[in-house]
Amino acid sequence: MSEEQVIAKEEETTDDIYSELDEDRCPFCHIDLDPKTEDQWLRSYDGRELWLTDVKSLVCSKCGVQVYPEETLNYFEEARTGGIPNLKSREYIPDTYDDDDE
Ligand SMILES: [Zn+2]
Repeated sequence: MSEEQVIAKEEETTDDIYSELDEDRCPFCHIDLDPKTEDQWLRSYDGRELWLTDVKSLVCSKCGVQVYPEETLNYFEEARTGGIPNLKSREYIPDTYDDDDE
């Protein structure tokens, strides 16, 4: 009898862990992220860039981290693999980038 109760409690705990990893929250600041929709260039596998519209992401107003939900990652993947027809594209030219990395 008591064993069943223990199992039920473990399941609840697992659910709580997942909800804490909610992608609507900043993993660093643990505050809610602000939804953002923007158009942006995506680097494709063949050395070109694809113009994507309505790219959804979540941005932390404190540290600026940008999180892409799974929906957006799927969108990127679909674009890269040619799943979205008639995307505007251009040649990838590294010099045009503002590179934040040093
Ligand atoms: Zn943050």
